[in-house]
Amino acid sequence: MASIKILKNKIPFIITLFCCVTVAALAASVRAGDEARAAEAAATTADKRVIVLDAGHGGLDSGCVAVNGSYEKDINLDIVKDLGALLTFAGYEVVYTRTDDVSIHDDGVEGVRNQKISDMENRLEIVKSYPDSIFISVHQNLYTKPEYFGAQMFYTGNNSANFKLARIMQELFAQLQPGNDREVKLIDNGLYLFKDTQQPALLIECGFLSNPDDAANLSRPEYRKKVAFTIYSGLEKYFGEEVKSKEKTEIGEAESFLYMQ
Ligand SMILES: [Zn+2]
Repeated sequence: MASIKILKNKIPFIITLFCCVTVAALAASVRAGDEARAAEAAATTADKRVIVLDAGHGGLDSGCVAVNGSYEKDINLDIVKDLGALLTFAGYEVVYTRTDDVSIHDDGVEGVRNQKISDMENRLEIVKSYPDSIFISVHQNLYTKPEYFGAQMFYTGNNSANFKLARIMQELFAQLQPGNDREVKLIDNGLYLFKDTQQPALLIECGFLSNPDDAANLSRPEYRKKVAFTIYSGLEKYFGEEVKSKEKTEIGEAESFLYMQ
């Protein structure tokens, strides 16, 4: 009897314990489910991150002509295609303003000048259609003095992330191009494709076609692949730093919440 009584007394405790264990297990499984969903959502967001790539010029507009006769439009397109392939392989969604040697002006537009205007309007339309993207425009530089060489990054003040993106990219190009000590440059809103862009955006001048070494390098497909990989690495580093600073902000917020208790 005594043992039954003890057992009877213990039943509510056992039920309570069972309930606690069940609730704890349930909570743990919900938490695990939440974490799995969060991880899945993060992966999906990363997978779907859009990069808009613009190969400058195209068609009748050849851009700069290098000292060795290469056209800027061809170099830009080749780099952009290599870069796009790397990004696609890494899971990014890539949008191109052009994938061929063409101007993307509207049908029926006559005259080189009008075609150029229409081409730029259509490129801007593409860039603006992806407000959550990162916009990268690839060009080559030209100057009257042939000794000027090396890549340089240009950015606007439209998005506070632009400077960080430019700085990261400039540092990586300095590794590719020994002696390149150029500094990132803030541009005003004079550049048509950049004047209204609100997303992180960067104009990359990969080198000087007026410099014989840059022109020779940029005319070689292997070197253009290195340039593409440099830009790809810059984007990966940028996203890595973005995640780190977001985590830091969240930890900071959690800490200040604790201090308020
Ligand atoms: Zn150009």
